[in-house]
Amino acid sequence: MPDIEIKNMVKLFTVLLLSEKGQHGYEIMKEVEKKTGKKVSPGQIYPFLKQLKKYRYVETKGRAERDRQAYYLTPEGRKFVARLSDKFGDMFEIAIKPKLTVCAHCNCEIYKGGYKERINGRLLSFCCENCAKGYRTLNTQ
Ligand SMILES: [Zn+2]
Repeated sequence: MPDIEIKNMVKLFTVLLLSEKGQHGYEIMKEVEKKTGKKVSPGQIYPFLKQLKKYRYVETKGRAERDRQAYYLTPEGRKFVARLSDKFGDMFEIAIKPKLTVCAHCNCEIYKGGYKERINGRLLSFCCENCAKGYRTLNTQ
């Protein structure tokens, strides 16, 4: 049986989250949504969990209804994660880092610091004061 292929961020995050601790399917779904910033459906999570279970990379504890079950990585599952980590290298680290902040005006990535200003009641992040000024000019009358 060929190894499971991880072809999208949802699967990658699912495995990463399981490597942190055992969790329920819906917890994984909510966390993956948070990490990717996109809506995740049960159809993206549960079939993959089922596949992981078939490969004996996870085991389940708890009642049989899908929402009551918590999924835990098995020792085989940990080896699988280690293989993934070798394969993805840097991408693995990037995936688990919090999302970068983006300047509300020019969309450039703010690595640290930046400039914050409250405009129209919202606290926004900018890369610099000039961007805040530009944004303010465009968005206030
Ligand atoms: Zn900017």
